Amino acid sequence: MRPAIFLDRDGTLNEDVGHLDRFERLVLFPWSLDAVRLLRRAGYAVVVVTNQGGVARGFVAESFVAEVRRFIERRLADIGERLDGHYHCPHEPHATVAAYRRICDCRKPLPGLVRRACRELDLDAGRSVVIGDKWSDVRLARAAGARGVLIRTGYGGGQEQAPPTDLRPDAVADTLMDAAAWVLRNPPPGGR
Ligand SMILES: [Mg+2]
Ligand SMILES: [Zn+2]
Repeated sequence: MRPAIFLDRDGTLNEDVGHLDRFERLVLFPWSLDAVRLLRRAGYAVVVVTNQGGVARGFVAESFVAEVRRFIERRLADIGERLDGHYHCPHEPHATVAAYRRICDCRKPLPGLVRRACRELDLDAGRSVVIGDKWSDVRLARAAGARGVLIRTGYGGGQEQAPPTDLRPDAVADTLMDAAAWVLRNPPPGGR
């Protein structure tokens, strides 16, 4: 079983623009591709796990989520890299689109997406790290038995100012690249 880095998408790999619903609004942070490369070369599987509530609320087509994934994969392919997996939750309990209206187990911070990725890709959650710009990403890490890093891009700066009382991140980092550097300095118990 391999350790993995579970990456949030919006605010972590790309700028958070609210509901990303058009390509013109998709801006990867300048370090995102290099950070993925660094983590993969260190032996981690890199897997995106993202809540796409816009799908449930009818702002975003599920096909667009797949298009964004392909865009990121193409940009990675340009530097000889790839994602090891990409999982999204399109559900919400009060979705306006009936097909997505459900209480699911995959909406972060619930660990359904991570569990599925671990099962399908043979990953070891206990040696893995979740990186994201919201406390729900850190909470996901706790729920999945992984470590969790909050980053200050996207909503992260604001989130840092309002920490929950019951949750501590393993680290707070300025960007995904800084979080990747933290991961390399702090290998999981038992090693990579
Ligand atoms: Mg985010
Ligand atoms: Zn879901």
